[in-house]
Amino acid sequence: MKAVVIGSGLGGLLAGAELSKEGYEVEIFERLPFIGGRFTNLEYKGFKLSTGALHMIPHGSRGPLAHMLSNVGARVTIVDSKPMAMVNMRDKNISFEDFRKLLSLSHRMKFAFLTFASRIFKPNISFKEWVVRYFDDDLILRFADSFCGWALSLRSEDIQAKEMLEIIHNIIRYGGPGIPIGGCGAVTKALVQVINSNGGKLYTRSQVDKIIINKGCAVGISVKGRIINADLVISNIGHSETSRMYHCTDKQYMQKISNIIPSKGIKICLASDKPLIGHSGVVFTPFADRINGINEVTNADSSLAPSKKHLVMSHQTLVSDDLKHEIYLGLRDLKKLFPDGFKVLLIQCYHNGWPVNKARSGSDIGNTTPIRNLYVVGDDAKGKGGIEVEGIALGVRNMMKKIDKEELSSS
Ligand code: FAD
Repeated sequence: MKAVVIGSGLGGLLAGAELSKEGYEVEIFERLPFIGGRFTNLEYKGFKLSTGALHMIPHGSRGPLAHMLSNVGARVTIVDSKPMAMVNMRDKNISFEDFRKLLSLSHRMKFAFLTFASRIFKPNISFKEWVVRYFDDDLILRFADSFCGWALSLRSEDIQAKEMLEIIHNIIRYGGPGIPIGGCGAVTKALVQVINSNGGKLYTRSQVDKIIINKGCAVGISVKGRIINADLVISNIGHSETSRMYHCTDKQYMQKISNIIPSKGIKICLASDKPLIGHSGVVFTPFADRINGINEVTNADSSLAPSKKHLVMSHQTLVSDDLKHEIYLGLRDLKKLFPDGFKVLLIQCYHNGWPVNKARSGSDIGNTTPIRNLYVVGDDAKGKGGIEVEGIALGVRNMMKKIDKEELSSS
């Protein structure tokens, strides 16, 4: 059985690793000159910056991605963040535990009860409305926006309460973030090694231009006009682009696609001689104008910066289309947070065809398409409650179950 994968982002590579492990002959086609999509390193002045990610794995060494990596035999060391998170309270950073203690006992108890209860009575309102309805507390609302901005590149009003509560449930279940040694590029590199060692092949500068369909079933692709036959076609380029590759006419599916909204954001990479944060966790910034959170990955892996330097990255969700103004406000926040100074290495804006997520959390539409043997993986096919790459891993897991089921029913 042969599987072709369109795109070499994390979703495509995880699918390729899983399928090659199951005995499929795998070929992955990537249009760009490099592998890894938005989850690989970008070497810059001796720093290991990235094409997208903040070098963080949302549930560290215990989450779905770590589990899948170990399952396929990808050798990646993930250092769990310690502390998991701190909260900047304008004049000082406090631990997440101390932040919780600032909330009244009744609020803490209500939060625990409602998080549990909402898994049964799924609230059909936004997370912001949920917070306002049950807590009406400025500090909780600020923290909710800061968390959603950092982890999902959304405001609390842009995510459904039921999806956010699944995310909270997963944090309780799997724990907080971790940093892969070698950065996100080490993860994608390890997956390439697995695919190669299972006999799979990867091609860069190979843009797929068409998905070939026969009687409602995907039977191959065309790469720069060359036909490649396959039993299974996995697309890592999003539902929308995938549907254009075979001129989809399924109205219901096209309607679902039209409801997908991407999440957008800005990442600012800073260099400093001294640690600005001093630990490997996230610092949430609920009182900043634009910045939602910051990390300093060199506290977990000093190789991500030149000797005696630190790499700090901030993230902010994009709340208007005025990029210049958003960047100005982000830099103004950083100057207030770190008055002793830093050097700006790179400012990256993620929107349009290269967003933070192709589908904002909660608006993913699953792995299946109207076409048999054509599946979609990646960050518009995330599994329920999965933050970023954890959601991608959950989505790939769901797809593998579906493929196994199809195989069983046809045998
Ligand atoms: P993508 O990365 O979208 O890859 C798809 C690939 O397909 C690309 O390489 C593309 O070139 C290729 N392609 C497209 N069209 C074609 C074609 N026609 N033919 C062949 N190839 C094609 N997640 C985390 O878990 N932790 C973080 O710290 C984190 N931080 C982030 C910070 C920022 C600023 C951003 C932007 C994202 C962040 N994310 C983070 C999210 C994470 O990076 C993405 O969700 C993930 O990398 C997307 O992977 P994907 O599988 O959807 O594939």
